[in-house]
Amino acid sequence: MKNKVALVTGAATGIGRETAIAFAKKGANVVIADINKKQLAETEKLLNEEEVEILSVKADISNEEDIRNMVEKTVQKFGRLDFACNNAGIGGESATTGEYSTEGWDKVLNINLRGQFICMKYEIEAMLDNGSGSIVNISSILGHVGFTEAPAYVASKHGLLGLTKTAAIEYASQGIRVNAVCPGFIETPMLEDAGITTDEETKQHIISLHPAGRLGKPREVADAIVWLASDEASFVTGHPLLVDGGYVAR
Ligand code: NAD
Repeated sequence: MKNKVALVTGAATGIGRETAIAFAKKGANVVIADINKKQLAETEKLLNEEEVEILSVKADISNEEDIRNMVEKTVQKFGRLDFACNNAGIGGESATTGEYSTEGWDKVLNINLRGQFICMKYEIEAMLDNGSGSIVNISSILGHVGFTEAPAYVASKHGLLGLTKTAAIEYASQGIRVNAVCPGFIETPMLEDAGITTDEETKQHIISLHPAGRLGKPREVADAIVWLASDEASFVTGHPLLVDGGYVAR
């Protein structure tokens, strides 16, 4: 991936941070974007250990102007965009469908689906200028199956798979591949915030849903993302790749 450019949203923590590092280890120059400036600076520090160029951009993916600026700055600095990992996302509130707040629904869909759509719009434009590119959207096992008390999250992740497949068939003939990675439960700050890894009983229940008998690690997801983005997956497009320790196969 030497002299190529990878953009990762939600790169301040968790899966996004590991993905930025994994792209850099393959030699790609990396653009890291997130709403959380403090944690983003930590990711930048870690990337400084790699021999690649880095661009750090504060961007809120619920804001179209921020997204436009993020892609514009990428092209200004590097002259191209080769790989984009649309990873930023939130879990949202926990309530059954009948009790879920409309504001909560809007917030989750605004970031997890509308935000990813707008990122794709600007990334595709830049990739068409290159004549090639590869996009990996981060969906979830919950893009494949339902989960109680998470209607907005589940809907957003199912929607993202539909968007991925549509863009894949639209741009396949123009050298742009569009895929998704669908992680099982992965040990990141998102699970801490949801109280899953902080409560031992809940954690053990979630682990029991994975035939692998454990939660996943951000690095295991990052490796799948980088493979899908790379030329090693040159005939793969429109694919929702499960990285879930067997969760959906049960
Ligand atoms: P995380 O909370 O550690 O990271 C999410 C990152 O996205 C954070 O750095 C956060 O600041 C950023 N972000 C949130 N809203 C943003 C916005 N509006 N604009 C820009 N950045 C924003 O969580 P994670 O587990 O690393 O999640 C990454 C992706 O993986 C998410 O899309 C999530 O839905 C998905 N995912 C996670 C799991 C899991 O179990 N952790 C499972 C399946 C899918």
